[in-house]
Amino acid sequence: MPELPEVQTTVNGLNKTVKGKKIVDVWTDIAVETPSLPHHFTSTKSTKFFNEFKKLIVGATIVKAERRAKNIFIHLDNKQSIWIHMKMTGHMMYGSYELDKKNNQWVPAATERNAALRDPYNRYLHTVFTIQDKPFGSAQDLRQLVLSDVRKFAKVTILPTDTIDNELDIGPEPLTKEFTLDVCTSQLLKRSNRAIKEVLLDQKIISGIGNIYSDEALWLAGIHPLRLVKDITPAEMKLLYEGIKVVLEKGIDFGGDSTSDYRDINGERGKFQAAHNAYRMTGKPCKKNDGGIIERIPFSGRGAHFCPAHQML
Ligand SMILES: [Zn+2]
Repeated sequence: MPELPEVQTTVNGLNKTVKGKKIVDVWTDIAVETPSLPHHFTSTKSTKFFNEFKKLIVGATIVKAERRAKNIFIHLDNKQSIWIHMKMTGHMMYGSYELDKKNNQWVPAATERNAALRDPYNRYLHTVFTIQDKPFGSAQDLRQLVLSDVRKFAKVTILPTDTIDNELDIGPEPLTKEFTLDVCTSQLLKRSNRAIKEVLLDQKIISGIGNIYSDEALWLAGIHPLRLVKDITPAEMKLLYEGIKVVLEKGIDFGGDSTSDYRDINGERGKFQAAHNAYRMTGKPCKKNDGGIIERIPFSGRGAHFCPAHQML
């Protein structure tokens, strides 16, 4: 699942490619949610609800994109925001696409020169925003902002921009100035009887951390993933706090992590997977040269990776 660095990489890409541009059409074959019908999920198959969704988007100009936890918000100039959660395998790309009417499927246009958009991972297009790429341009200046998602869990919603805060129940953003060691400690201690890895994954405690970056931060801090929060010493807490910031910033610097399906706005892989110390490094010697071999233990349906030599229970 895309975590903070991947979502931030996408948001940075959106601000480079579509900021200030107008949306002239929208197409989807997955459920979308509209604000006046908050409990109705709809798709192009359900014309009435889709038309409402479309009416709020078409003709609007994109003011900017913003990340909140693992959510993407594309703010429009009509006080509405498109809310996208990429969930497990979603990612957004920008390029020239066309609708293959026979198969009701969007594909890269013959004129599209970016080969990465033809990557098999990038072919599962379920929502397409057609964008006027240049102001006052012709039909040749149309481009598409697309959501590719092989597993179709991604969520697309439109809502009034001023209601976003009410919709989100998320903890502090770890890369902000406000996220001090004290804030980090008091947030984690809200779940003092729980395993630290579980608490790091709780979006209500700290925003944006998932499986990859929790394993990496705990490796840096030398803390076993199953240690209870209440047993973590202040010195270890400081190392963990610094580790969280280091791994998330590094993730952004590397353009995100593409161990799974994540791709950036150009359909390219991120590079953080080449810098892992713990995540999916099972059986490899620990890079601290402490004689440890990275182990994987089952953890809430997935896994936790750690070095038994310097991350002891
Ligand atoms: Zn080690």
